[in-house]
Amino acid sequence: MLLKEKVVVITGGAGLNGLGFATARLMAAHGARVALLDLERADPSGAAAQLGPNHLGIVADVTDKSDCTAAAAAVLKAFGRVDALINNAGITQPIKTLEISGDDYDRVLDVSLRGTLYMSQAVLPAMRQQGSGSIVCISSVSAQRGGGILGGPHYSAAKAGVLGLARAMAREFGPDGIRINSITPGLISTDIIKGKLSEEKKAEIAETIPLARLGRAEDIGGACVFLASDLSQYCTGITLDVNGGMLIH
Ligand code: NAD
Repeated sequence: MLLKEKVVVITGGAGLNGLGFATARLMAAHGARVALLDLERADPSGAAAQLGPNHLGIVADVTDKSDCTAAAAAVLKAFGRVDALINNAGITQPIKTLEISGDDYDRVLDVSLRGTLYMSQAVLPAMRQQGSGSIVCISSVSAQRGGGILGGPHYSAAKAGVLGLARAMAREFGPDGIRINSITPGLISTDIIKGKLSEEKKAEIAETIPLARLGRAEDIGGACVFLASDLSQYCTGITLDVNGGMLIH
């Protein structure tokens, strides 16, 4: 039990095939109480109920600061503390530079980057008071290799922004005992790629990956458990590549 009695908040955590929910399942198995934050249409309460009786589902749009503040308050009211935050909510669009409108830019940047800032701002005061906490920011290999698989350049920019934000926050909050790290997943089979890549294309990509397969949601869950737990207690400001060797640098 690596997370016994720990309280974990996961944004975008209610999609049953997503990285966030796989992470929630693994964390619950390690003894954590989990709060799943997601849009209403993703039914966070229903997803939380699937984890077991001691978990919470909260409707929250991470692009809305007051939603983030209210969600953090609800978690503190229910569980009394917050030990880890997984900034996982994100959306992508498979379009090219010249096609990106202002609205596209806002939508993609707002969920990944603004959402990461707002949710971190919402939990940091409690973590500071506790003198401990771990924030994990889900970026993407797309930030490191310049996209090229699915997301457009604005997605790469959003995810690169997440890396910069996480590193700067790590520097700022290290003295408070709060660790802030990023994960850069490779290509993982979830709803985000559903219908966007043919089976043939996926097999073609798998052939270029040293571990010879696409990632599974659980692969990211394991990395999140590591970064949320005391196993990683001397890690802050790091970027953990979980990509099967797709990008080695
Ligand atoms: P997903 O689409 O299954 O999950 C994204 C979740 O975010 C959904 O539950 C969605 O409802 C939620 N969400 C969207 N907008 C939101 C908002 N404004 N407020 C709150 N929640 C919101 O996709 P996934 O593959 O599980 O992606 C999870 C994260 O991992 C994303 O940040 C994504 O960019 C990143 N990522 C995924 C891959 C991959 O290949 N699947 C690779 C690299 C990075």
